[in-house]
Amino acid sequence: MTSAPVGPVNSSSAVSAARTILTRLHEVMASRQNAQAKLNTVVEVIGESLHSEVCSIYLLREGMLELFATRGLAQEAVHVTRMAIGEGLVGSIAARNETLNLAEAAAHPDFSYRPETGEDRFHSFAGVPIVRRERSVGVLCVQHVDPRRYEEIEIEALQTVAMVLSELIANAELVDEEDFLGLAASLTGPEQLRGLTLVKGLAAGVAVYHQPRITIEHIVAEDTEAERQRVYMAFDKMRDQIDRMASQAEFGGGGEHDEVLETYRMFAYDEGWSRRINEAIDSGLTAEAAIERVQQRTRMRMRQIDDPLLADRMHDLEDLSNRLLRIVSGQLGTAASMGLRHDAILIARNLGPAELLEYDKRRLKGVILEEGSLTAHVIIVARAMGIPVLGRVKSLRGVVREGDPLLLDADQGIAFVRPTRDMGIAFDERHAKTRERQAAYAALRDMQPVTACGERITVMVNAGLREDMPNVSLTGADGVGLFRTEFQFLVSATLPSRERQTRLYRDVMDTAGDKPVVFRTVDIGGDKSLPYLRHDEDHNEENPAMGWRALRVALERDGLLKVQARALLEASAGRTLHVMFPMISEPWEFDAAKAVFDGQLAWLRGQRKALPEAVKFGAMLEVPALAEMLDVLCPKLTFLSVGTNDLTQFLFAADRSNPKLAERYDWLSPAILRFLRRVSRTCQQHGTLLTVCGEMGGRQLEALALLGLGIRRLSITPAAVGPIKSMLRQVHLHEIEEEMNRLLDEPAQDLRARLLDWAQARGITFD
Ligand code: PEP
Ligand code: MG
Repeated sequence: MTSAPVGPVNSSSAVSAARTILTRLHEVMASRQNAQAKLNTVVEVIGESLHSEVCSIYLLREGMLELFATRGLAQEAVHVTRMAIGEGLVGSIAARNETLNLAEAAAHPDFSYRPETGEDRFHSFAGVPIVRRERSVGVLCVQHVDPRRYEEIEIEALQTVAMVLSELIANAELVDEEDFLGLAASLTGPEQLRGLTLVKGLAAGVAVYHQPRITIEHIVAEDTEAERQRVYMAFDKMRDQIDRMASQAEFGGGGEHDEVLETYRMFAYDEGWSRRINEAIDSGLTAEAAIERVQQRTRMRMRQIDDPLLADRMHDLEDLSNRLLRIVSGQLGTAASMGLRHDAILIARNLGPAELLEYDKRRLKGVILEEGSLTAHVIIVARAMGIPVLGRVKSLRGVVREGDPLLLDADQGIAFVRPTRDMGIAFDERHAKTRERQAAYAALRDMQPVTACGERITVMVNAGLREDMPNVSLTGADGVGLFRTEFQFLVSATLPSRERQTRLYRDVMDTAGDKPVVFRTVDIGGDKSLPYLRHDEDHNEENPAMGWRALRVALERDGLLKVQARALLEASAGRTLHVMFPMISEPWEFDAAKAVFDGQLAWLRGQRKALPEAVKFGAMLEVPALAEMLDVLCPKLTFLSVGTNDLTQFLFAADRSNPKLAERYDWLSPAILRFLRRVSRTCQQHGTLLTVCGEMGGRQLEALALLGLGIRRLSITPAAVGPIKSMLRQVHLHEIEEEMNRLLDEPAQDLRARLLDWAQARGITFD
């Protein structure tokens, strides 16, 4: 038997094919035929236009996909052939919401032969889901005698037609709402998602997308020219926005941020992208549907390419496409700008620290991210806010829908989506237990952090905002061991003035009372970029964490450091100022930073202004090179504070905010612990106070190891104070010191497990 001419159509003829089909579909749907007759005509129109021998439409009825109309298959099969969701090729297209394009249908593992259709003559098969509100309500497919894959442009025409069909089907009420809801229920049953615990804790709330999804209501355009104008205007607006962001963001050290903006810019001006959207409009779609259509197509192509770099770019393009959709549909803003109306669990691919801080803390109960890593700053902020975070959750955005009820158990690394009653009961029990435990920790507030052998350990908290300060008295901490002053810069739209800085520092010291607060001068750069701080040179850093950040910025822009120094000195009039400098790599950098403070102090003295009673200087040890220079540096310092977050990323050459490396290296690795033991010994020799202020110190087993290295001062996240106190009250220091020496002299493969065994053998209990 000879086959019909299957001319692989060229691009413009694909558009015109789609356009012809759409025009004819309009006529069909507007005609006075009954629904069945309409569908019969539709399959004829599509089959003819795509030169396909078979064209069939399956629609959802009573939870099954039923053959509603066909050209080319046996007519007796209409309303007889039925497939379950997930069954056969048709069922699997609906279940996965994905297109299939096969040269040999029978060779596919999902193929299920239906003799009543007479389809055994046909080899090639292509099918696309008919989607309504993100759910498949049917499948449109074509088949052909020749074993050949359909051309991409033919598939595109099919997808465009499926998009339109979904609206026409809904308007003609061919899929009844009950079926739709039935399917919705079957696809919206309970699910469990697993991820990496980034901030412990339990929370319940409804899912809120940080970037809300746009629901496209109208697919078929009434006035193509008007749609074209809407897209033009949206493109102009979007390009303006991106240009504005890019011109504000020429801040070296913004690195990744700059890079993303550059990519955005490239996409925003990409002729190909706007042309494809225009073509989709030409084929009869509304502006929204055209944008979505092109995005679907890109998604499909990207899925075929297994390249992580391209996948990242795909995310960027998704973001941009969503931005264009928001502009064109007038649905603007993030969920933060719209306000949270219920207790919410925020869903996002990733977030910046400033974005998180925009949310109403009373309503924001938890966060679930597709990416994220333990020491990214957004996670540090969430930890300080006491918001549980689950990260690295795959297929998050595919499973969770806006408004879904969620139970987040970040302690166990699980989120329950649309939980059953039983899940809810089990969760409530766990939640109650956690609260009990927290109450027990809160009761430790007035208890001294003393070890079982009677040694007093200094336990301070980390902070960064005025709102964090009540934690000092709530936890009974010994003060603030790390006040991240850059947080004020991060949450502010413009550079904070000296007066604002002074006010903050004064308030912070007032709240701390007689307890010390160690202010760290601004550590901007890396993953803490400030769009308003410009960098002079054309600076596109490949490696911002190792780039123009922290003290390197402050020393080059000494105006910035001078203002901060003056603000800190004035705010500490009559008290002791503790100040430390981040990211010191060589001792001269400490000298240079201290000189800025000395200069300001001299100026204040000259002006007969009130002075601090004393100024104590410290340095952060985050760059491994500095450890080799401690004999030179220590005599100049009162204290040294180890930032294990940055230190580990530099020791292992593993980017702290790269989700792929989040679980690769362990803080309890012999290399890190030996390094810290050496630093601890050197500081003891010089009489320099040594603190650990990275996230490592807030974890019970890690803190136990630190005690064993001679470290007696910790500055940790407030929620960890109770657990750390309870751990150290069970410890005899000489025992853990001996054990750590043993473990480090002949390091075991799994030091973590060995240490845990050791502690358990002594009855030391952990959370
Ligand atoms: C660190 O690097 O460990 C640290 C405490 O500083 P930050 O996390 O702010 O970089
Ligand atoms: Mg650091």
